[in-house]
Amino acid sequence: MCSVTHVAAGAILGSIFEVRLTAFIVGFASHIPLDMLPHVDFDDFRFDAAVSLGLLVGIYLWSGFSPMLLGALGAVAPDFENLLWKTKLIREEDKIFPTHSGLIRHGRATSGGGLRTEVIMSIASAGLVVVALLLGGHRN
Ligand SMILES: [Zn+2]
Repeated sequence: MCSVTHVAAGAILGSIFEVRLTAFIVGFASHIPLDMLPHVDFDDFRFDAAVSLGLLVGIYLWSGFSPMLLGALGAVAPDFENLLWKTKLIREEDKIFPTHSGLIRHGRATSGGGLRTEVIMSIASAGLVVVALLLGGHRN
């Protein structure tokens, strides 16, 4: 699953909780089922990383160090090892997160959706983040 989707899902989940640690743990756990779904991965991981970072900064600016931010951070945290792998700082076999290492089967990932798909997914993810902000992003 692309990182922007994890950020959006984690923001939604985090907005439900009042305790930051709970939001982080639930967000982190959400990474597994989302990775197991068939999905489109961005062709350019830098675009995905940049939009994800932008969303995280936006959440922080809106809600501070909130459960929503922690949910989003927890949800996207496992992809940090993917970033290290894509930048060749670690090897494929060094990955430890179960859906990245192969311990849990990763959903069929297709790339080649192209820039239009990536922009649409980014906008949809940003829309979900706005929904999360309206739901409970004010809590911090
Ligand atoms: Zn992942």
